Amino acid sequence: LQPHLVIIGGVAAGLAAAMEARRRAANLRITVLERTGDISYGACGIPYALSGLISDIEKLTVHSAWYFSERGIEIRVHCEVTAILPARSTVEFTESGQVHQLEYSHLVIATGASASCPPVPGHQEDGIFVLRNLQDARRANEFLNNRQPRKAAIIGAGYIGLEMAEALTARGIQVTLIDGGSVLMGSLEGALRDRVLDELRNHGVEVLLGERLTAFESVGDRVSRVITSGDRSIDADVVFVAIGAKPNSDLARDARLEIGARGGIITGPGQQTSVSNIFAAGDCCEVLHRVSGRRVWLPLGQPAVKQGWIAGANAALDRVIERYGGVVGTNAVKVFDLEIARTGLSVEDAIEAGFQPQTSEMSSPSRAAYFPGGSRILTRVIHDGRGKLLGAEMVGKEGVAQRINVFATALYSDVRTEDLGQTDLAYAPPFAPTVDPVLRAVFEVVRLESR
Ligand SMILES: Cc1cc2nc3c(=O)[nH]c(=O)nc-3n(C[C@H](O)[C@H](O)[C@H](O)COP(=O)(O)OP(=O)(O)OC[C@H]3O[C@@H](n4cnc5c(N)ncnc54)[C@H](O)[C@@H]3O)c2cc1C
Repeated sequence: LQPHLVIIGGVAAGLAAAMEARRRAANLRITVLERTGDISYGACGIPYALSGLISDIEKLTVHSAWYFSERGIEIRVHCEVTAILPARSTVEFTESGQVHQLEYSHLVIATGASASCPPVPGHQEDGIFVLRNLQDARRANEFLNNRQPRKAAIIGAGYIGLEMAEALTARGIQVTLIDGGSVLMGSLEGALRDRVLDELRNHGVEVLLGERLTAFESVGDRVSRVITSGDRSIDADVVFVAIGAKPNSDLARDARLEIGARGGIITGPGQQTSVSNIFAAGDCCEVLHRVSGRRVWLPLGQPAVKQGWIAGANAALDRVIERYGGVVGTNAVKVFDLEIARTGLSVEDAIEAGFQPQTSEMSSPSRAAYFPGGSRILTRVIHDGRGKLLGAEMVGKEGVAQRINVFATALYSDVRTEDLGQTDLAYAPPFAPTVDPVLRAVFEVVRLESR
């Protein structure tokens, strides 16, 4: 068999793998099999397309199939891989109802993740949506345009739920955000959470924490109410369920590849799976968390692209020359006029990983006190009290999403709190106070440590 790289999945990780393989091996045959009709799009932009900020969902597509075919990458949409047969280095897929087989010399699995609605009574009614791909976004947008709902419920206060609260409010829809836990984004608590809750409520979003979804009720075939564990009945003529996703690892599991405790495919540092000519990348995989040293499932866009590059390079060159360093769990979200960002371990993650975490909170101005337009940034640092940084969370109106990257960089390289406090960060009145909020927060940690 002439070398043939087959890639399953045509979004972030899959196409990053295809492009990197092409850069490394100009003549390699590369085929991408994608089960939907869409490739190369930014799912992260879906809330902004639904809000109307991005005028058309189709604008989320980055490159067409033509772009890839010009580079000698064959894209086959509406082709669903139904089995991987490692012993024969073959995948089986369906296209227009027909079953086909394709041999590979190397395979990259980049099947991503799936979101679903829990099977509570009424979950199949019209007007209940999950958001994962462009097809989901088109369906939701059509419903919003044609049925003009007035009240929405969002189940799940993770980052997608928060983004959707803003998006639907921007469309003039009254939103109730419901989450079974007491935190936002999986870990935000205390003063930082309260600041976000204030922001949501100031924009008319009702927030119900500690209330689990138990059922949907409908009028005709369309959802009309959400029922929660506290026996509340919330009017909603459209519902978005954003309670998380799960890795698409069934194909790998059926092919007897090693699967981790969180359901993701286990890969080595070169993104190789337990079968030597099969690689995996992106949301279908578990990854090393550099702070806890454990394998985690953290489905985010940037790790997916980087893992795709590494899988593509190693598959194309038939040896492991590139390695993925792992994640520290960084993400950021905008909610109305607030930026929320986090990196590293939450207190709960830190305890689970065997640390004895301490926290320190600091409120600092975002600009020099005399400079117009500034606001306060709340920073919470999670550390072990002995110089090891474990995580950080920040909330504020400006300069948060980029500042968290200082903590992320420090966590990636295991920089001690004392050294982080010595870093030379930029200062000018429009951008920061003389001592940056990051440094202020770290100084407070160092002060606590030296007591
Ligand atoms: C609404 C939303 C907002 C987001 N916002 C952010 C953000 O702000 N920041 C961030 O970092 N991340 C964000 N993400 C997450 C980010 O989009 C994902 O981490 C990223 O898309 C993962 O890329 P992937 O290629 O691993 O998987 P996916 O994008 O899920 O792509 C996998 C592809 O594989 C295909 N596939 C699956 N099984 C098969 C099969 N058997 N045969 C053929 N094809 C198959 C699927 O159809 C899919 O097209 C967001 C996601 C959503 C849904």
